[in-house]
Amino acid sequence: MNIGFIGLGQMGRHMAQRVLDAGYALVVHDLRKEAGQHLLEKGAKWMDTPKGVAELCQVVLSSLPGPPEVEKVVYGETGLMAGWKEGDIYVDMSTNSPNTIRRVAEDAKAKGVAVLDAPVSGGMRGGMWGAEHGTLTIMVGGEAHSLESVRKVLEVMGNKIFHVGDIVGSGIIAKLVTNLISACCAAITAEGFVMGVKAGIDAKKLWEVTKASVGNNWVVEHSYPQTILQGNFDPGFRLNLALKDIGLALALGKEYAVPQPVGAAVEQKFLEAKAAGLGERGIQAVILRLEELTGVQVRFPEQ
Ligand code: NAD
Repeated sequence: MNIGFIGLGQMGRHMAQRVLDAGYALVVHDLRKEAGQHLLEKGAKWMDTPKGVAELCQVVLSSLPGPPEVEKVVYGETGLMAGWKEGDIYVDMSTNSPNTIRRVAEDAKAKGVAVLDAPVSGGMRGGMWGAEHGTLTIMVGGEAHSLESVRKVLEVMGNKIFHVGDIVGSGIIAKLVTNLISACCAAITAEGFVMGVKAGIDAKKLWEVTKASVGNNWVVEHSYPQTILQGNFDPGFRLNLALKDIGLALALGKEYAVPQPVGAAVEQKFLEAKAAGLGERGIQAVILRLEELTGVQVRFPEQ
């Protein structure tokens, strides 16, 4: 079976690599051909357009930044829609908008193509590590029998696969919940740690105490020791993508009349970081403006 993979960025290049290593015939596409070079050297086939990928493959996976890119890949002049055949399956693994993937699913159905949304989370060690090691959490929305058709492929990339609901978009809703929570944790953890260090406590001591107390969260326990405390602000998960996810979560809240004042304030924190030129750095860079304003750095002593 030919598997297509579109979007070979921080996540997609590792996920596609695992599909290839598992023995599937892999066909890839990205806006940047160099992003697929490592896969082509190992036997993957390159196509210049999503349409070309759809024509060759029974299953197409994508890992794209967000809704505008998914729409372009599906509906563009040389998009998937132009190449799909009856019986094909499209699995979008991007953190997308539920409404966008539902529209795609509706239009694809008219061509006899099944659609699943299957966004991912990296779990303990973060997205890229999970993508590289096949330990992603995958949150699937769509019909159970379509999931069963592609389960073996998904299992190559993730070891925690949840069928969140039969309705397309269900997986994305679960993903937006988790990312809204983790973005809020990133913002408030930055405020707490900057306050503590400014008030005279050693950053390492503060980390050890917080990790063993009720203030512990994923950001404290797993992200801080690998990123901020080491002075590492590389992406990882780009701050601009986190801002996109907060925006998608707030739009969902608005659609269902769920007030989200905390999420809205956190969106402003991320916007401030973007305005300061930090959008292409990792999400952890949300602390940098606060460090600059207060004149302290939250680092392990040896950094
Ligand atoms: P990325 O920006 O590194 O990769 C996106 C890739 O898509 C790039 O290679 C880009 O060239 C390609 N692309 C963009 N528009 C395209 C188009 N029209 N046609 C073909 N290719 C196109 O992003 P990423 O960090 O790999 O994230 C991918 C998705 O996974 C996002 O939705 C993100 O929110 C989600 N995610 C990321 C992480 C993480 O840690 N990076 C973790 C979980 C989920």
